[in-house]
Amino acid sequence: MTTKVAFLGLGHMGGPMAANLVAAGLDVTGFDLVPAALEQARTDGLSIADSAVSAVDGADVVITMLPNGKLVLGVYDEILPAAQPGTLFIDSSTIDVADAQEAHRRAVEAGHRVVDAPVSGGVVGATAGTLAFMVGGTTEDFDAAKPLLDVMGRKVVHCGDSGVGQAAKLCNNMILGVSMIAVSEAFVLGEKLGLSNQALFDVASNASGQCWALTTNCPVPGPVPTSPANNDYQPGFAVALMDKDLGLATNALRANGVDAELGLRAAELYGRFNEAGSGGRDFSAIIEDVRERSAKNSSEVDQ
Ligand code: NAD
Repeated sequence: MTTKVAFLGLGHMGGPMAANLVAAGLDVTGFDLVPAALEQARTDGLSIADSAVSAVDGADVVITMLPNGKLVLGVYDEILPAAQPGTLFIDSSTIDVADAQEAHRRAVEAGHRVVDAPVSGGVVGATAGTLAFMVGGTTEDFDAAKPLLDVMGRKVVHCGDSGVGQAAKLCNNMILGVSMIAVSEAFVLGEKLGLSNQALFDVASNASGQCWALTTNCPVPGPVPTSPANNDYQPGFAVALMDKDLGLATNALRANGVDAELGLRAAELYGRFNEAGSGGRDFSAIIEDVRERSAKNSSEVDQ
């Protein structure tokens, strides 16, 4: 028997993820509010439903890939009563840990199975089927979800109970936000000290400063030709998404009383950079913010 999948939210990420399920031979029915997303999904071989409720009719698995937790909970309230008992719900949106736990509670109360399964890897990973999934839920529900996640991703990790997949996502992206700022500050300091970007890269990428923000997504053009810095900071991973994820991390830090000075400061810096109009640029463009603030400081030092 073919697994019947309902896929809700066919945007930048959900669209190609659903297309990969179709390419693997699954029967996928999609729904989105945006007509252009539905058109693309039809071209990719999905059946198109006229509402979220009709998409889940007869589905064995429901995957959601939506912008935020409020929408996930709203959509769950619509579709949980309409789904057949025991349906497996997989939410791959990036949302608050508390919202993920609430979604889990509502799904179980309605007689269903559920995992939170946020992703990293961006649109490139969604298209290539190489996403990393971080999964929260029972072992039984993880085992049921894994074959589908394996189609859309390369790495699938069971992180723990409900909400813990989201926790892994927030912790990872907090490391990423902080490390990108640290790498950017080091390049700007190097520039002031007469150290070329290439020389700093050659040293740090082979020393203890080595990290993904430096060696893959290097914020200066030159050392890593494929990094967004070589392409006018076209994303990549957009500042708006980093701002969103650091906002979720901030909520979790505050709710749990964690004294994370760097995580909170990174959230503040990306928040300001986003509000200043850089939301659509790659998050490595934060180096320009560091340079700009440093230029102001230099002119104060000169006076
Ligand atoms: P997107 O805005 O491109 O797609 C979201 C889609 O959800 C849109 O097409 C929208 O119309 C649809 N939608 C909204 N409300 C709906 C509803 N009630 N019913 C059906 N569809 C509805 O966003 P995206 O970039 O695809 O991101 C989706 C999720 O993945 C977000 O939670 C984001 O944080 C996360 N994420 C994104 C990336 C990335 O690089 N874009 C990377 C990792 C994680």
